[in-house]
Amino acid sequence: MNLMSSTGQFGPEVCLGVDVGGSSIKAGLVDRDGKVVASAVAPTPIGPDAAVETIAQLFDELLREGRVARSGVVGAGIGTPGPLSPSKGVIYRCANLEGWIDVPIRDLVSRRLGLPVVFDNDGNLAAFGEYWAGAGGRGGDMIALTLGTGVGCGIILDGRILHGHFENAAEVGHLIVERDGRSCPCGQRGCLEQYASAAGLTKRVRDAVAAGAASRLGDGSGRQIDEITSRSIAEAAREGDALCARLWRDACEYLAIACVNLQHVVNPATIVLGGGLAEAGDILLDGVREAFLRHRWRLADDFPVIRRAVLGYDAGMIGAAGWAWADR
Ligand SMILES: [Zn+2]
Repeated sequence: MNLMSSTGQFGPEVCLGVDVGGSSIKAGLVDRDGKVVASAVAPTPIGPDAAVETIAQLFDELLREGRVARSGVVGAGIGTPGPLSPSKGVIYRCANLEGWIDVPIRDLVSRRLGLPVVFDNDGNLAAFGEYWAGAGGRGGDMIALTLGTGVGCGIILDGRILHGHFENAAEVGHLIVERDGRSCPCGQRGCLEQYASAAGLTKRVRDAVAAGAASRLGDGSGRQIDEITSRSIAEAAREGDALCARLWRDACEYLAIACVNLQHVVNPATIVLGGGLAEAGDILLDGVREAFLRHRWRLADDFPVIRRAVLGYDAGMIGAAGWAWADR
């Protein structure tokens, strides 16, 4: 869509989306249909002030690359890891971002760029991205799970991100799926992400191998154990390694239980699975779907479609821009 901007130049109207991660900052200009006009990435510098400067530099670069007039940018969205407050625009602290304590990031970026800015956590925005321009297809209420270091999640209800009274809704990675189960750094035991995140599953396999369980992935030597990844686990499981196949099935089983529980609370049209574990493809999706069918209730046919995320690592950036569009 080409619109006359207020400076008289022709160009697309876009929102800026920014996804701040522990190792990189990804930014993009996205039009109101969800199309990425330009995107760029830079390493995350140390400290929030330097990060705001990096965002400003990326913004300039994107305007040039996308041939977008400054006046054609109507808003910005920014996502970071939490804990944080979307309503206050403050990131409280983050394990992956050193030196970020009680940072009013929304206002810092807004002042630096001269744009209205919306702010939210990266899991929520990745989910909104999939809803707005990805696997959700704006087709009704949707939950997205990102199976990476933890289990990131976002819940989209009536086209809006669900935040909850304490702004910590959708912490699905900390649903307790096993009573007195594996301990989680959050202080609980038996959290979903200890079993079904890429990192949680990898740790489970490493612990089992270190304890002497037979697997082609290790003879118990430390070096081999360190080389075990969610990708090598998926490959071994597919090729019949008993330990990997069992713990992979377990991960699918716990995910399915979480999906059934979420179905009863939220009743979504779609549950989208993304992140490192989902990269394994059918072995994850088929496993979760099969376990879901076994665990589901029989009182109604109110089952979500379970499908794979499609936006990959761009989901957070696209969702940040989409949330800025939704805010208008
Ligand atoms: Zn936990």
